[in-house]
Amino acid sequence: MALTGIQIFKLLPKTNCKECGVPTCLAFAMNLASGKAELDSCPYVSDDARAQLAEASAPPIRPVVLGKGVRKATTGGETVMYRHEKTFFNPTLFAGTIASDSAAADVEAKLKVWNALQYERVGFNLRPELVALKDVNGDAAAFAALAKQIAETSEFNLILMSEDAAVIEAAVAGCGFKRPLVYAATEANVDAMGKIALDNDLPLAVKAGDIDGVIALTTKLTGMGLKDLVIDTGTRELKQALEDQVAIRRAALKDTNRSVGFPTIVFPSEMASNTDMEALIAGMFVSKYAGIVVLSDLTTEVIFPLLLERLNIFTDPQRPMTVTEGIYPIGNPTENSPVLVTTNFALTYFIVSGEIEASKVPSWLLIKDAEGLSVLTAWAAGKFGGDDVGMFVKKCGIMDKVKHTELVIPGYAAAIAGDVEEELPGWTITVGPRESAHLAGFLKAKTQ
Ligand code: SF4
Repeated sequence: MALTGIQIFKLLPKTNCKECGVPTCLAFAMNLASGKAELDSCPYVSDDARAQLAEASAPPIRPVVLGKGVRKATTGGETVMYRHEKTFFNPTLFAGTIASDSAAADVEAKLKVWNALQYERVGFNLRPELVALKDVNGDAAAFAALAKQIAETSEFNLILMSEDAAVIEAAVAGCGFKRPLVYAATEANVDAMGKIALDNDLPLAVKAGDIDGVIALTTKLTGMGLKDLVIDTGTRELKQALEDQVAIRRAALKDTNRSVGFPTIVFPSEMASNTDMEALIAGMFVSKYAGIVVLSDLTTEVIFPLLLERLNIFTDPQRPMTVTEGIYPIGNPTENSPVLVTTNFALTYFIVSGEIEASKVPSWLLIKDAEGLSVLTAWAAGKFGGDDVGMFVKKCGIMDKVKHTELVIPGYAAAIAGDVEEELPGWTITVGPRESAHLAGFLKAKTQ
């Protein structure tokens, strides 16, 4: 169980030296207990106290790392029930399923298709992360061969799905270097699966018939020394499965029940009658509260909306997505190319830059820091005023790059044109279109 603020305080040096950024050790203890401070902020905690405090400062849901290297992915580590309370940290991981009786050539072709399911949005590369290799016939050699093939030839991390410890052990020998998730330890095989996970330092999923069964398994496995666990309550009835997710999150966060303080794994295809329903159910579990969603297949029409939903759910709601203030050349602009200015809201930048690119008119795009607000909001909030924009144009260095003196401002900020002109004497301020969709036509007309 997590320690209370007073229990933590008793373990601190009590010198009130303030080096942690708060005035007293008691205040630091309270912040640590509520997850608002990091233990490392106090340089004077003894090793003994550190060991005891580690539990108190750990996230109530343990972060579990799958895979190794640049493609390793973390699930869990969440600290709130609702994203508006703070943020969700580690995006739900998506897996596609491959059956262990598949031919190697078919797997190769499938991995090629799945690997191409990558999408660029607001500066992020969105893609599924996992392949779940499912044992369908108990053939350990075939399972191990495919696990090795996937591990060695693809960037995907692996979930090894079999309740037969011998099958898992054979596969781990060839793909253990990629730190696959072993799925799953059950009441019947928990000792053998626990040993494999322990010996090879692998994350291990537990599967039971209900939450009580899960607690029995996680208690046993943590007693064996395993820390990186993932939970499957075994429920395949939709309403109960959702209730399980909420109950686990609530018990971990509100009751600090460490027995369920692990990320979860769900299988929407086992609750759905068709692919459309599977996608809908998967979407539900992205918001509440699956750590890993295993899909029957990865197809554009299913994974793309799920990746976008995930991007939205796991974006920090208290911090607008922004791009850095500065000059962005688009399409090799010259000293005669148009100069446009807009705000640093990431979505605004990507939409406007995309439209400029599509217009094939090389341009200079000036991005002004407006605290991540869109043009109209920034103007209304006084973050994109004429004086500010004019001063920014002067200091950003664009005047050294062009020999003309025309600046295009967004249509939604037409009201600032006069003030910009005052700040930039001799410049022509042109009001661009309100909608970025009209930008291409606007730019083409200007260069004709
Ligand atoms: Fe207390 Fe440590 Fe903070 Fe100093 S740095 S006030 S010793 S908690």
